[in-house]
Amino acid sequence: MKSSYRVVVIGGGVVGVSVLYHLTKRGWSDVALIERSELTSGSTWHAAGGMHTINGDPNMSHLQAYTVKLYDELEKVSGQACGIHRVGCLYLAGTEDRADYLKTELAKAHYMDIGLRRVSLEEAKAINPLIDASKFTAGMFDPNDGHVDPSSVTNAYAKAARLGGAEIFLRNPVVELKQKPNGGWLVVTKEGTAEADTVVNAGGLWAREVGRLAGIELPILPMEHQYIVTNEIPEVMALKHEIPMTIDFEGESYLRQEQRGLLIGTYEHDCKHWALDGTPKDFGHELLAEDIDRIWSALEFAMERFPCLRDGGIKRVINGGMVFAPDGNPLIGPVPGARNYFLACGVMAGFSQGGGVGLAVANWIVDGEPGMDVFAMDVARFGPHALGAYTLEKTTENYRRRFSMTFPNEELPAARPLKTTPIHAALKAEGGLMGVSFGWEYPLWFGKPGDVTVEKPTYRRSNAFAAVAAEVKMVREGVGLWETSSYSKIEVAGPAATQFLDRLVTNKLPSAPGRTVLCPMLAPSGRILGDLTVTRTEENAYLMIGSGTAEVYYLRWLQANAPSSGVEIRNVTSQLCGLSLTGPKARDVLQAISDTDLSNAAFPFLRAQWIQVGLAKVLAIRASFTGELGFELYMPPAFQLHVYERLMAAGKPHGLRPFGVRALHAMRIEKGYGSWGREFTADYNAAEADWARFVRFDKGDFIGRAAAEKQFKDGPKRKLGLVEIAATESDIMGAEPIFQNGKAVARVTSGYYAHWTGKQLALGYLPVAGGDAFEVEVLGQRVAAKRLPEAPYDPKSERLRG
Ligand SMILES: Cc1cc2nc3c(=O)[nH]c(=O)nc-3n(C[C@H](O)[C@H](O)[C@H](O)COP(=O)(O)OP(=O)(O)OC[C@H]3O[C@@H](n4cnc5c(N)ncnc54)[C@H](O)[C@@H]3O)c2cc1C
Repeated sequence: MKSSYRVVVIGGGVVGVSVLYHLTKRGWSDVALIERSELTSGSTWHAAGGMHTINGDPNMSHLQAYTVKLYDELEKVSGQACGIHRVGCLYLAGTEDRADYLKTELAKAHYMDIGLRRVSLEEAKAINPLIDASKFTAGMFDPNDGHVDPSSVTNAYAKAARLGGAEIFLRNPVVELKQKPNGGWLVVTKEGTAEADTVVNAGGLWAREVGRLAGIELPILPMEHQYIVTNEIPEVMALKHEIPMTIDFEGESYLRQEQRGLLIGTYEHDCKHWALDGTPKDFGHELLAEDIDRIWSALEFAMERFPCLRDGGIKRVINGGMVFAPDGNPLIGPVPGARNYFLACGVMAGFSQGGGVGLAVANWIVDGEPGMDVFAMDVARFGPHALGAYTLEKTTENYRRRFSMTFPNEELPAARPLKTTPIHAALKAEGGLMGVSFGWEYPLWFGKPGDVTVEKPTYRRSNAFAAVAAEVKMVREGVGLWETSSYSKIEVAGPAATQFLDRLVTNKLPSAPGRTVLCPMLAPSGRILGDLTVTRTEENAYLMIGSGTAEVYYLRWLQANAPSSGVEIRNVTSQLCGLSLTGPKARDVLQAISDTDLSNAAFPFLRAQWIQVGLAKVLAIRASFTGELGFELYMPPAFQLHVYERLMAAGKPHGLRPFGVRALHAMRIEKGYGSWGREFTADYNAAEADWARFVRFDKGDFIGRAAAEKQFKDGPKRKLGLVEIAATESDIMGAEPIFQNGKAVARVTSGYYAHWTGKQLALGYLPVAGGDAFEVEVLGQRVAAKRLPEAPYDPKSERLRG
């Protein structure tokens, strides 16, 4: 071992070696991997090696497609075979809802360069003669999928990394991590100590323990997972070709050929965590005790669908530990609040995702950003609330639903309610149906007061439609109330606050206390990082308000770029509750219970001031995401119920009721407003987002400036735009492909039925050239769409400023 490295990767499973290989691919050869035992010693060695591309999240699918394709490159570079069986994957649905899900996945394949195609049940039977086709309703097939040999893949990555200059040390556990004053690390191992500028935790089954070496707790837990291998089966031996991997969604199972028999794994309902108190240090190349009773009913179900399984008998049961994060996605990126400590763990499908994880983590270390939108895997998508018991409940839910679809209008129940605000009960009493965002309960839509509102999960128009339409009408014609407590709220203060923030945001900061400005943040490459409303609350203090899911993500970026003194960054999300009163009658309602002059002259758009509402003092900001006149009110939680009750009483003559996020989206889309995480992500830049008015080159330097200048100067080839879609049976949901002259050219970033203007609308990054005629595929149906020259509702924003 040398005395120092730029990067030390801890853990030689399939993920660690992938990170190492990708670092060398980026030209970093001064890198090392340290493995406690032999390569593959964690979850990797006993994996079934299945690989597939589909994933509910398009960005995850993209990285899975990258991983699956990478194996050919890896064989070439390393000269080591990966045991690739590119037999494809057959996905089978057994209900009409599942068939709808397959349509949405097939649609995404158009813009993701993956080979997914629909197959009839006859074709499905020809591809895999072992299925009982009468049990299924629809199928699709991806010829690029299949399975690989886990050990060979791991060794191929390792060999390729070594060829790129990396060093690998085996049988040498890392026992201590000590941070140096300069932010680097002393990596203490059994065999000696090396310095590292950056460490990567790829500890897999032991990622929690490797985290604790640096005082870091992670939201992951290992679970037992079993698959069985059968004896020889005559039907398998009679096959003329190897069958594809076959996923039975209803059975939560995957099946593949294993020589002359079959291998089948299930994600059983009766699932079990393993090593809750910590993965044993001395756990080696071992399996867990088989527990066939726990998966028996799942196997019986599978025998109905693949009848020849009955003829096989069980030759071998593999029960191994694998690690899950609360949502089942990997956990990657720089740990918030820590210096030079990256994660590449929580990967529960290493052979589908390991390549993409390695690519993103290596980019992030080398460039300071992952180079694409990887928020679905980013450790910052979880806050401190997601540790411990939360992880336990969510991983149970997630394991059971491994192959389940989540409907676009579905909210999952585990670990809820967790974060509630003082008006939670009042909103429920109004008929509020609650969803969850970053642990916060917030209303989706409202049924009748006093009723328990329920919504049937579906890909079609749901029973929420009429109620959401009524909420939109209420706001557009009168006034409505939307709770903004779950927005992330960060206070930046101190003598150096202005100088610091000015370098982070692209817009000019508010020039004086009481002013508010919309402020994007960019990554060095010019990719979009953030989109915040910044209010100057005092000469040297700012309140930044942004998307609720980005709370930790924003904090991490601010903290990583903050000077060592002169700035204090405080997360005040839980200390400030929010209410947004919006609609043409909003001023009348608020004025009735406030002695502050709220007229447009005294309190214009994008101004902020502390005002009295009832008995409480609140910070009021003139802004609204609905496109109507609006006041966002922020206050300590202790005042929220009081303010809510006073507002509701004052608004009674105007028919004031609370409204939910569905109505909010239906309104923001007809104003053409994008939102963070949908339109505003690292997949796009400011020129593409058409942000000329928010990116000011007539101010000093800011992060991403040079790149943004070039992007604006060159002119984007695609731009955020709105399309109106011809009427269809089902509403647009988001992520549908957009075609121009028969070719998929974009995807829907947000899509909703806009109740007020009565239009199906979608936002997406549309090609600048080629005209305004498009088609959008909605549940398997291609429908005409046209680009709108401007937002269909109040394009000059007169109502917002009124
Ligand atoms: C039964 C079963 C079947 C599976 N089937 C599939 C499948 O078909 N397809 C698929 O994609 N995935 C499958 N998986 C999941 C897959 O195995 C994992 O996603 C993958 O192996 C995770 O790899 P990893 O590198 O993150 O972790 P691990 O393989 O656990 O590797 C972590 C490594 O870190 C080392 N380490 C830990 N602590 C230290 C330390 N202090 N110092 C140095 N080294 C340390 C360990 O020794 C280990 O080698 C399956 C899992 C199981 C249990």
